[in-house]
Amino acid sequence: MIEIKNLSVKYKSNDKDFLALDRINITIENGDICAVIGPSGCGKSTLLYVLSGVIKDYEGSVLIDGNPINPSLHRIGLVMQNYGLLPWKSVYYNAIAGSKIKDGKDNIDRMYVDYILKKLGLNKFAHRHPGELSGGQRQRIAIARAFILKPSLLLMDEPFSALDEIIREEMQDLFLKIWFENRVSTLFITHSIDEALYIGKKIAILSPSPGRVKEIYVNPLFGK
Ligand code: ADP
Ligand code: ADP
Repeated sequence: MIEIKNLSVKYKSNDKDFLALDRINITIENGDICAVIGPSGCGKSTLLYVLSGVIKDYEGSVLIDGNPINPSLHRIGLVMQNYGLLPWKSVYYNAIAGSKIKDGKDNIDRMYVDYILKKLGLNKFAHRHPGELSGGQRQRIAIARAFILKPSLLLMDEPFSALDEIIREEMQDLFLKIWFENRVSTLFITHSIDEALYIGKKIAILSPSPGRVKEIYVNPLFGK
């Protein structure tokens, strides 16, 4: 279970502090998916920085199965809008890269890698380089990498916002398909209501800055 409890984040500057997140509470049951939506500036990126370990100075707590979140203990998968791939490495290498670095050695489950690559239609491209592929295909590599990591928490940061509409819908379907087969605990940040309603089992709605959870909505349309 992922528990974000009374999380507040202040950005400190010389003259005055800026409150970016104000006592956020969100719980994600194991194997569930929560969409987070809110206007620009409400603190979505700030929340992501806390969960991915970039921001360490915060109030409140973030627990994974009861333990404080710690990027060197917990595997955190991250899929961002701009993919974050290594352009000079093959698709295959990119897909396994996160797992390699995390363990220091290669004890990667090759069967699982093959299953994920196949599921995402990347098996044919395993030896190509990201630069030879389309935006949608590159985002599939980032998704493959995140699942191959077998993370305790998967963070999706507006992953499909830069894609055009048809590819975006394709990617949403593909993501849900692979997600339903693997049920990784996921926080999915988006600024699209449609996407939140399609992807989120729960939807947390943040208020304008400073971000507060206005409402948590259990989505009756989820999985339908
Ligand atoms: P979102 O991702 O929802 O657009 P952010 O998390 O990027 O929101 O930002 C939340 C608020 O914190 C915004 O009002 C932003 O201007 C402010 N902010 C972000 N980063 C900093 C920073 N390094 N210093 C001061 N204020 C910041
Ligand atoms: P590099 O860029 O360091 O030359 P690659 O990106 O080609 O390496 O591959 C990285 C690792 O993945 C290597 O250990 C390689 O053996 C393995 N690998 C690459 N492609 C495949 C594949 N299609 N099937 C199985 N293993 C692969």
